Amino acid sequence: MIPVKGYKGEKVAVLGLGRSGLATAAALLAGGAQPLLWDDSPETRSKVAADGHALTDLTRQSALDGVAALITSPGIPHLYPTAHPIIARALEAGIPVDNDIGLFFQSAAGDEWAEMETPPKVIAVTGSNGKSTTTALIHHILTEAGRPCQMAGNIGTGVLSIDPPVDGEVIVLELSSYQTELARALTPDVAVFTNLSPDHLDRHGGMGGYFAAKSRLFTLGGPDRAVIGVDEVEGRFLAGQLAQGPADDRVIRVSSGTKLEGFGWSVFARKGFLAEWRKGRQVASIDLREIKGLPGAHNHQNACAAYAACRSLGLAPKLIEGALHSFAGLPHRSQLVGERAGVRFVNDSKATNVDSAAKALQAFPKIRWIAGGLGKEGGIAGLKPYLPSVVKAYLIGHSARDFALELGDTPHEICETMERAVTSAAADAQAGEVVLLAPAAASFDQYPNFEKRGEDFTARVKALIGA
Ligand code: ADP
Repeated sequence: MIPVKGYKGEKVAVLGLGRSGLATAAALLAGGAQPLLWDDSPETRSKVAADGHALTDLTRQSALDGVAALITSPGIPHLYPTAHPIIARALEAGIPVDNDIGLFFQSAAGDEWAEMETPPKVIAVTGSNGKSTTTALIHHILTEAGRPCQMAGNIGTGVLSIDPPVDGEVIVLELSSYQTELARALTPDVAVFTNLSPDHLDRHGGMGGYFAAKSRLFTLGGPDRAVIGVDEVEGRFLAGQLAQGPADDRVIRVSSGTKLEGFGWSVFARKGFLAEWRKGRQVASIDLREIKGLPGAHNHQNACAAYAACRSLGLAPKLIEGALHSFAGLPHRSQLVGERAGVRFVNDSKATNVDSAAKALQAFPKIRWIAGGLGKEGGIAGLKPYLPSVVKAYLIGHSARDFALELGDTPHEICETMERAVTSAAADAQAGEVVLLAPAAASFDQYPNFEKRGEDFTARVKALIGA
């Protein structure tokens, strides 16, 4: 745990008692503060009370009197569509509103860091897609390199729950736009921006607010290095704002698809090859095509971002290349779960919308596509350009018939259940083809969440192929 600094002897209100809220409360207590705990949900309150924590009703008019700060959870709106009433009251009273990320950056560095040979470093990853994959990949590369490291934030553990870092350690954080928008301190050594596409616009008052929320990671604390995906205009703008000019190698530009040879430092993937350029020369090249844990151009973008972040710490290209090969992929994101007679089975249950399903469909040339569930507005019309790589679709769930209507000439079969879809796709598949779960739909009609759907797919594949 990282004890929170700066609030010794003070009252700090904590709104939202999920995993990160409770970890924050413990870290505040360890730092000598007096946390006042509250959650809107009566069930959560009962659970927390049953675990022995005292609650303070923050909805009472005087509850924030004498409070030094209000710490909130990422799921609670602090600005748009409307600020939560308790947050609105704190703002009216001039009480600072912060989150666990802000507390982490304010508290992580200890006096002992000055004595260390290599003081710990923090890499923070944000962006619309690929955050988790890039974060986990950086962590994997560092682990393979023998560097002590921990991963936290939006992925896995809450930031304040990590162990105090040791000499030479690297902390890798995944940060969402909700987290970067609110944190009062954001001082990573290396900041990574994967890409930008519209998401969570209601919480940020539109695209401009969404981009501004992410930009704070780069502009607030001034990281030593910024790794920036420049495939969208926003990334190019951000890189331009941070760099003194194209030759400034504080910014490492990353692209999936565009040659970036004219810049100070760049890493890009084209036709399946990663290239690193620095000072007008090619420094390294890696063949990404046979890296099974990172299929498709979207994962090549993630590989470039992770490679760049690790290079900025001085890791050698060969070492990083070896680690890319041993990356197993994250569960439910283009995850290879089995292989039989030249047929690969891939679980991308996290592809819950058309955007991410499009990336998955572009990653393989011949696909037996398992899709369907609770379809989203607009159905799968946006996937038309990617259907030529679909040999046949196996449709499940609530939207199976709607999806069938949109598939036109693409061969398809209504399977209803995952069991039938996996059995049928596996029976039809020829060597060289991929049986891909990329539903382009939410899971809630048949499963509690996308993880359970991916686990069901994986279990049925394993039972079938005897893995
Ligand atoms: P995040 O943490 O940003 O949600 P994930 O790594 O969990 O990102 O991936 C979420 C979904 O987006 C998955 O379906 C995955 O296959 C897809 N995806 C992963 N990386 C990218 C990328 N760089 N661009 C677009 N889509 C991606």
